[in-house]
Amino acid sequence: MRQPMVIANWKMNMTLSDSEEFVRRFTAEDVGGGGVEMVICPSFIALSALSLLLKETSLLLGAQNMYWEKAGAFTGEISPLMLREIGVRYVITGHSERRTYFGETDEDVGKKAETAFAMGLVPVICVGENGEERRAGKTKEVIGRQLLTAVQALHEEADWRRLIVAYEPVWAIGTGVPARAEDAAVVAACIRSLLHEKWGEVAAAVRILYGGSVNPDNITEFTARPGIDGALVGNSSLKPASFAAMVNAVSAERRG
Ligand code: PEP
Repeated sequence: MRQPMVIANWKMNMTLSDSEEFVRRFTAEDVGGGGVEMVICPSFIALSALSLLLKETSLLLGAQNMYWEKAGAFTGEISPLMLREIGVRYVITGHSERRTYFGETDEDVGKKAETAFAMGLVPVICVGENGEERRAGKTKEVIGRQLLTAVQALHEEADWRRLIVAYEPVWAIGTGVPARAEDAAVVAACIRSLLHEKWGEVAAAVRILYGGSVNPDNITEFTARPGIDGALVGNSSLKPASFAAMVNAVSAERRG
């Protein structure tokens, strides 16, 4: 049974005080949220303080990125050990903004995923085609390349089971134009089938999320699809009421 989840990716938004205020206001919201895992990914500088604040809540902490070495001369980078020590559980790897603006490659994503598991974190591997690739009918080819490169160094069955993959079509991120739920479901099925070919039945345990212009009004169109286990959300996760509404919507949809 895969637990549904909603992950908030705040990107380079919200100062430390904004982030603390978000948590205070979110905990005042009426979040039933039963059975839905709730994760927030603030900026690096807010992680440590939020880790203390979140102890009183059922929110979990994720990072937006990390480096693949434990320590060393890598000026400006953040190590998985540093994240683990302060209670971070999840780390987003291969977000399209990292790929596009910071040159992150499929191989980098693979190294990050491998190290994340080795250091006790769970990677959320993002894959997705851009608009041009979509128009050229290359969605499955792109997803296959990104995914299979990213998971090639994962050898432990326990890691395969905990892996999270987010299908995030680049053309849908931050545009207000989400993918059609039926199309997202087809790609999610394709991701699971690629993992099944590689890992067999264990692929059924992998959580696959959709991301790209998700909001409280459309989130359940995606999560109602049997192969989609939740959402990775940018803009609509920045307001406590909106994040709470998405969690409550998924919870209600799952309860039927
Ligand atoms: C994202 O950044 O992962 C994302 C899905 O953003 P948005 O929800 O704003 O499209």
